[in-house]
Amino acid sequence: MTDKIPYEIELTKGDITSLRVDAIVNAANSSLMGGGGVDGAIHRKGGRQILSECIAIRCKQGKCKTGQAVYTSAGLLPSKFVIHTVGPIWAAGTLNEPELLAACYTNSLRIANELEVSSIAFPNISTGIYHYPKKEAALVAYEAVKNFMENENKVVNKVVFICFDDANYICYKDLILGNK
Ligand code: ADP
Repeated sequence: MTDKIPYEIELTKGDITSLRVDAIVNAANSSLMGGGGVDGAIHRKGGRQILSECIAIRCKQGKCKTGQAVYTSAGLLPSKFVIHTVGPIWAAGTLNEPELLAACYTNSLRIANELEVSSIAFPNISTGIYHYPKKEAALVAYEAVKNFMENENKVVNKVVFICFDDANYICYKDLILGNK
């Protein structure tokens, strides 16, 4: 059995590309070639380096499957790493979306442990273009992170949920305050 390390879960509002944490998570698509939403913001501000590394990953392993994660450096961003994970597209709960969404958080935290980072920030994966209902997604995200931090984590001591829109922020606030 491993010793559990103390950790905090922080909730904030804003743009993930401005955060000073060791690793930020990107809600990527399976092509890893960039897209809209948070993915577009990360590639725009992070510069060409991130895309070059994504292209190298594509050449080596092909597309990134839903629920899986890979990492690159963070280019011009203030963080050290970008962990790219592919959230599920909402299909009314018919295609294992909750398990796949939970896997995005768990697999990103596994990579964070491999990279030995102390702090990591997550956007609200799948709740934009992929249309996962926000309240349900927040619950899956929060439970997956807590579960990992309680049972598997060895190095991360801070997890930030960063919400870009008010609706997501309210969902997380209710959850986190309700659980304190
Ligand atoms: P997905 O395809 O996984 O739904 P999106 O990027 O469309 O990915 O949306 C995921 C979440 O990221 C949404 O809640 C959206 O509001 C949020 N988002 C968009 N831009 C940013 C940003 N710069 N920083 C943090 N979150 C963002």
